[in-house]
Amino acid sequence: MSDLKRVTTRITEELDNFIGGCDAAIWGYCDLSGITNRPFPELRNGISMGIKLNPKIVLSLKEGPGEEYTREYDEVNSRLAVLAGKVSEFIKDLGYDAGFIPPTQSLNDPERLFADFPHKTAATLSGLGWIGKNALLVTKKYGSALRIITVFTDAPFTTGEPVIKSYCGDCRSCMDLCPPGAVRGVKWSQGMSREKLLDTRRCFEYSRKMGYEAGPGHGVCGRCIVVCPWTEKYLKREGVL
Ligand code: SF4
Ligand code: SF4
Repeated sequence: MSDLKRVTTRITEELDNFIGGCDAAIWGYCDLSGITNRPFPELRNGISMGIKLNPKIVLSLKEGPGEEYTREYDEVNSRLAVLAGKVSEFIKDLGYDAGFIPPTQSLNDPERLFADFPHKTAATLSGLGWIGKNALLVTKKYGSALRIITVFTDAPFTTGEPVIKSYCGDCRSCMDLCPPGAVRGVKWSQGMSREKLLDTRRCFEYSRKMGYEAGPGHGVCGRCIVVCPWTEKYLKREGVL
């Protein structure tokens, strides 16, 4: 085994042990060197991590987002930031550089409606899941009932197998459900723009309206999360469906 391979294997194991003892439900490693909009250009590797949403609260989305969901959304975002901070510090203690950006950005910018770096990019490259017809990350274990964050680093590790195609099949549950008709029904493949999948403006306006109804200052809808059959599997496993 070469020295580099030995270091890479050791760091991957150390990270697995550390992240496994934190708040993450799912995580993976990726090479981001082919992504031009990295927020830290010198950090070419990524760790994608997800925290699952409370299954009972996800189920309540059937009736549309309420205060409970917006609270959960904010709380999980805070937990993600703490998680990313801990993992970044751990990496720095190993002698490498690391940084992260907040878990959500798009709804904070009503003009552009897209994030500088979508965390979904790192998630698919890490092998965690694919992009559903609703433009959300879909994982086999939790469906879309999770939120994600990325840690950027120059630490070497063993990267996952990128997911490059959709596992949505013929399903159109999110498209049939979406109240403003924002889901176009197109199956994702790697490199596809979000706009091909989703009328972002329609989704945003509806989400903002629902968010304001649920509690001032929130821009969340999320109803397509609960109808996804991959999410339903998670809810059934948890005994709430
Ligand atoms: S979040 Fe709401 S508006 Fe946006 S695609 Fe899903 S169901 Fe439609
Ligand atoms: S509801 Fe169906 S089409 Fe929509 S993201 Fe889930 S699997 Fe894909």
